[in-house]
Amino acid sequence: MKEEQAGLYIHIPFCLSKCGYCSFYSIKSVNLIPEYIAALKKEIEYYRKTFSSFDTIYIGGGTPSLLTSKQLADIFTSINKYYKIDKSAEITLEANPGDISLDYLKTLRDIGINRLNIGIQSFNDKILKFFGRRHSAKEAIAAMEATRVAGFDNLGIDLIYGVHGLGIKSWVNTLQKAVSFKPGHLSCYQLSLSEKTSLYKKYSLNEWHLPDEKTELKLFLITAEELGNAGYTHYEVSNFALTDKFKSRHNQKYWRHVPYLGLGPAANSFLNYKRWWNKATVNTYLKDIACGKMPVEDSETLSSEQLQLEALFLGLRTKAGIDLKLYKTKYGADLLKDKKTIIDALIKNKFVELKNGFLRPTRAGMAVADSLALI
Ligand code: SF4
Repeated sequence: MKEEQAGLYIHIPFCLSKCGYCSFYSIKSVNLIPEYIAALKKEIEYYRKTFSSFDTIYIGGGTPSLLTSKQLADIFTSINKYYKIDKSAEITLEANPGDISLDYLKTLRDIGINRLNIGIQSFNDKILKFFGRRHSAKEAIAAMEATRVAGFDNLGIDLIYGVHGLGIKSWVNTLQKAVSFKPGHLSCYQLSLSEKTSLYKKYSLNEWHLPDEKTELKLFLITAEELGNAGYTHYEVSNFALTDKFKSRHNQKYWRHVPYLGLGPAANSFLNYKRWWNKATVNTYLKDIACGKMPVEDSETLSSEQLQLEALFLGLRTKAGIDLKLYKTKYGADLLKDKKTIIDALIKNKFVELKNGFLRPTRAGMAVADSLALI
């Protein structure tokens, strides 16, 4: 079987402000960006003997759209110097709607970025304010229009549901507004709260409430139905694509144990059973690189059992499900035999189905994907 090419992830850990629901690491010190890019270029070079080529590149954050096009071009010059980038590579940039003018978008295309993932989250100003987002609904709409004028045909939109005060009707309106722009890709995330976030603090003070489980399930099913009616395939628990071409090729590598290299603070990498991750803060990252050290925090070598469990967890979150023959070849386990009783029960209760050698979650199964993985 031909080995799939690796993916490259580059982390840009800067945000002008902190969104109320976000627990990702980011800092506001944008004055450090030039120093950070210089360090990143060194880290790009470090791996030139470990990885040789990539067919997906994902610039995520943080807020990558805070970088000027010149700074992004500088990063791409380094990548192209040390690695072969496939001619048809998927090259994604995460962008904040308030940052992307038409001129900026045109320069992104010149650099080679061919996919944008826009953090819209909502088309409702009240909700955007509640989230602590920097942009307004008007800016989100203007950004969507500008991306089309700039010639981007591969667009993703991120949305969040499960917010107190955002009733089912209002969520459906947000979905319909998103669909009216015909993005190739939609990610719809159910709001989940980490204790580190400011929204959690307000939640614990009873200033707002999360929807109950029944409403959450209803929202999940309505999302799948509404987007299904609009022609989108629900290919992963939170992800929808208009056609196969628009499925995130980069994210699918994470779900299938394809090698990937992650650069920048807290970024993870995976190659040949080994996973390693970088130090989490910009300061420690910069310090290590300045001393000529790899900024790696730690690593682990995964056993075959650990990989099997991950493949089960990740596979049952996708519509494609688990290719049982491939699973056996790759992980040496006969899933149907090893887990016969529980799989039979799940099939009986219509949470999974067996079709053409694949074990797949049904829509009801996807709604409880995290529990399915515990089988
Ligand atoms: S949600 Fe995105 S923009 Fe907001 S703080 Fe987190 S990383 Fe930054």
